[in-house]
Amino acid sequence: MTKETKLKLVAACAAGMEALVGREIRNLGIECQVENGKVLFEGTIVDIARTNVWLRTADRIKIILGEFPATTFDGLFEGVKALAWEEFLPLDAEFPVAGKSIKSKLFSTPDVQSITKKAIVNKLREVYHRPASVPLAETGSKFPIEVALRNDIATLTIDTTGSSLFKRGYRTEKGGAPLKENMAAALMMLTNWYPDKPLVDFTCGSGTIPIEAALIARNIAPGLKRNFQFEEWGWFDKNVLAEVKAAARSEIKQDLTLDILATDIDHRLIEIAKENARLAGVAEDIEFKQMRLQDFHTEKEYGVLVSNPPYGERLGDFSAVKPLYREMGEVLIPLETWSKYILTSDLMFEEHFGAKATKKRKLYNGALRVDYYQYWGKRKPREQKIEKGTEV
Ligand code: SAH
Repeated sequence: MTKETKLKLVAACAAGMEALVGREIRNLGIECQVENGKVLFEGTIVDIARTNVWLRTADRIKIILGEFPATTFDGLFEGVKALAWEEFLPLDAEFPVAGKSIKSKLFSTPDVQSITKKAIVNKLREVYHRPASVPLAETGSKFPIEVALRNDIATLTIDTTGSSLFKRGYRTEKGGAPLKENMAAALMMLTNWYPDKPLVDFTCGSGTIPIEAALIARNIAPGLKRNFQFEEWGWFDKNVLAEVKAAARSEIKQDLTLDILATDIDHRLIEIAKENARLAGVAEDIEFKQMRLQDFHTEKEYGVLVSNPPYGERLGDFSAVKPLYREMGEVLIPLETWSKYILTSDLMFEEHFGAKATKKRKLYNGALRVDYYQYWGKRKPREQKIEKGTEV
C-alpha cells in the first residue's frame, strides 16, 4: 500500500447528518457521494488520516473491501473469500467480525458473521500457506470487520477509526444528558453563527455545544488529540498521521477573540464544562457561569443562541418541561435580532415557547427523534455606503 493507492472509503454517520458530512468531505477537496446514513468517496491513506482527523459530524471512516450479491451462505462464503484480505490483514491479525442484515434472505446475523469469519480465515490460510489444523493466532493488530447485508447485497468493510469520532478526547465527565460531540458540531454548522457574533448556550450542561463552536471558530481539528485504529496497522505509513496532525496544528487560528457565553442552572455541570473546555484547548474562548435561563438577558444584538434543554422524555412527562419552554419564550422572543436554535423531542415545543419556528429540521439525538427549531433573527441592515450624493 503506497501513499498513492486509491481505496474505496465510506464515512458512516447518524441519519440526518449525511449532507453535513458530505459538505465537510468536499471542504477537504475530496469528491463524494451522499447516501442514507453514509457518504462514499475514494481516497488514499492520507485521506483516511485527514478525514479521521478533520470530520466533525461523521461517526467513522471505513475501507470498503467489496460488495456483491449474496442470497445463500455458499455465495456469501465464496464472495468474501474472493476479496483481497491479504492486502490488509497480516497473518497474525486480530479480526473480529460484526454483522448486520436488513431486508435480506440471509437474515441470521450470527450465521452471516461466522460464515464471513470462516471465509477470511480460509483465505488467509491459503495465502499464507497455513494448515487447516492450526488455528490463526490473532495476536497481532486489530482490524474490525463488518459484513452488512442490505437488499441481498453484502458489503465488507474494515473500520479505520476505532472508538467513534464523536469521542474527541476532551470530555472527561459527561453530566446527565450530554449531546454527542458530532451532534453538537452539526447543530452549530446548521446555524448562521460566525465567529464575530455573540453565541450563547444557556443550558450548556457539560459544555459540548460551546466547545464545538469554539473548535470550529478556531479551525481546531476535532481529532487532533485522539488515536485511531489505523495507527496499529503495519502497512499504514506511520508518518502520515503525524504529518496530517502537524498540518492541522499549523492551521489553527490563533488571533481571534470569541464572544461565547455558556450557562447552566447546575453549578457542578459548569465545573465539568470548564474542565472539558480546558482539555479541548478553548477555555479562554468561553465564559462559563451558573445561572437559571430565566435570568438571561443581554444588551447585545445579532447574536445566536443554541440550546439543548431538558426534554422531559426521561421522566416520561412532557408537562414537566412546559413551564420551562414557556419561560424560554418569554426570555428569547423579545430578542428580535437574535437567531435562536432549540433542539427538543417535544412536538408541542412551539406552542409552549409561544412562537412558530422559521424552520424545523428533523434529527436524531442517539435513538431519539428530535426537531431542531430554528428562529431566525432580524438581519443586520447593510452598512450604508454613502458616496457623493448617492445612497446605495
Ligand atoms: N448539551 C448539554 C446537555 C444539556 S441537558 C451537554 O452536551 O452536556 C439540559 C441542561 O439544562 C442540563 O444541564 C440542566 O442542568 C439544564 N437546565 C435545566 N433547567 C434549567 C434552567 N431553568 N436554567 C438553566 N439550565 C437548566
